[in-house]
Amino acid sequence: MQPQQPGYSSSRAYLELLADLPWQKASKEIELDLRAAQERLDRDHYGLVKVKQRIIEYLAVRKLKPDARGPVLCFVGPPGVGKTSLASSIASALGRKFVRISLGGVKDEADIRGHRRTYIGSMPGRLIDGLKRVAVCNPVMLLDEIDKTGSDIRGDPASALLEVLDPEQNKTFNDHYLNVPFDLSKVIFVATANRAQPIPPPLLDRMEVIELPGYTAEEKLSIAMRHLIPRVLEQHGLSSEFLQIPEGMVKLVIHRYTREAGVRNLERNLASLARAAAVRVAEQEQFVPLNKGMEGLATPLLENRLVDGAEVEMEVIPMGVNNQDISNTFRITSPLVVDEAMLEKVLGPPKFDGREAEQRVATPGVSVGLVWTSFGGEVQFVEATAMVGKGELHLTGQLGDVIKESAQIALTWVRTRAADLRLAATEGINLLEGRDVHIHFPAGAVPKDGPSAGVTLVTALVSLFSQKRMRSDTAMTGEMTLRGLVLPVGGIKDKILAAHRYGIRRVILPEKNLKDLAEVPSSVLNNLEIHLAKRMEDVLEQAFEGGCPWRQHSKL
Ligand code: ADP
Repeated sequence: MQPQQPGYSSSRAYLELLADLPWQKASKEIELDLRAAQERLDRDHYGLVKVKQRIIEYLAVRKLKPDARGPVLCFVGPPGVGKTSLASSIASALGRKFVRISLGGVKDEADIRGHRRTYIGSMPGRLIDGLKRVAVCNPVMLLDEIDKTGSDIRGDPASALLEVLDPEQNKTFNDHYLNVPFDLSKVIFVATANRAQPIPPPLLDRMEVIELPGYTAEEKLSIAMRHLIPRVLEQHGLSSEFLQIPEGMVKLVIHRYTREAGVRNLERNLASLARAAAVRVAEQEQFVPLNKGMEGLATPLLENRLVDGAEVEMEVIPMGVNNQDISNTFRITSPLVVDEAMLEKVLGPPKFDGREAEQRVATPGVSVGLVWTSFGGEVQFVEATAMVGKGELHLTGQLGDVIKESAQIALTWVRTRAADLRLAATEGINLLEGRDVHIHFPAGAVPKDGPSAGVTLVTALVSLFSQKRMRSDTAMTGEMTLRGLVLPVGGIKDKILAAHRYGIRRVILPEKNLKDLAEVPSSVLNNLEIHLAKRMEDVLEQAFEGGCPWRQHSKL
């Protein structure tokens, strides 16, 4: 074929892909040593005992039956809890290559299966592309963010993934671009997701979900001391001879600068400290050669340095000046120990002070709820206010339909119980007479939905109408029915961890969620008072200082 001929370059790209693909080429299977695998997992990850145990079981089954059609492992948890790094530890324990395929935002089926070659600019799908990159046919392939695939008119990538993950079908995976079946059965798939709920059920059915709920402050501290600090120092060309971050300072970083379920921001903050130290060390190194040879004196760099104080003393030591200069050399060459002043200088003023809840609920009409997001659990405030109007309910804060309905239910419940709750003097008074109610969920830019704000909404309204403040050390979650029954909700473990992070001491939960407490680490539970509620009245009883005074008089 002449290079000028149409189709030359696309045919060439196709043939090159065919030649490059690892049809038979595989990493050599090593004899799997479970003890070594366990050690490797322990070395790379702190804690996560149950997760590691499950991975070892998975590896044990593979050792006994290498061609077993085991389930696909799917790590589910908030960002930065170690999902990706666990997957890469599995690959190294098995002695296989590791390839990560990001599925976040993939809406087009062709991203998985490739475009037919009739299209201009057609390409193979991400799986075939990934296999070409690793150049072996038996890698560990991480399908990252599998919950973020969407579907639209261009097809449904999730159903294309069904074929990929089905051991019966993936022996002859057909990529539209490649147009010849490729055997994916030797690939070990591992998936990650922030939440299991958006994953389509048939796909979820093919995977075994392993949850990673996030870390407590103590766990984060150990992770930082054992794993993050050594790694960050190494990445910045430093060692503990140059920079030391004492445990107390790491605690401050955890409490004042991060409030996440994982450790990614913590790692980022530690990296900022390391960068600041790197500047000092690098500057210091510039002096050393200059000190040795005095000819350096003529350089503009040194002349600049001579202008600014402390460092000048470094330069003048070889010239044999006084003793004070020598002590300065020692000060600068000894390791830089991070202190509070340095934290503020490098990371800025503290972002969180642990008193947010207290400040937010300072006025009546505000309540503290616990919600579940793809970043793990969060504390969510609900604000309610009343003003002159025509009895309307206004809702703001990017709310979905379910949460809007919850607000309606909450208002109805409070109105029907107005006399019992002593919000109105007598039976039959219209609470909304001549006024509008406005409920707002702050963090107005973040879309919110779900039924678990029911009890929080009622508490905000009762607090508003009774002009009583809610307790600032308490947070709650639970769905409420129209008749005031409190129904169980999901994500209890994440929500309790979030409450603990925010420094909340009392949590009100639906009674039916009692069983979920078994999953919460005991170090967290020991610091929290958990109150279980069956009916809305139980929630109100716990939410206000001194209980619910109007209760004795009520007929509830
Ligand atoms: P994810 O994929 O869950 O978003 P990553 O696997 O990228 O998170 O983890 C973020 C960082 O945190 C990585 O550098 C990882 O090594 C570190 N990390 C997370 N959990 C642990 C742990 N238990 N022990 C040690 N390091 C951890």
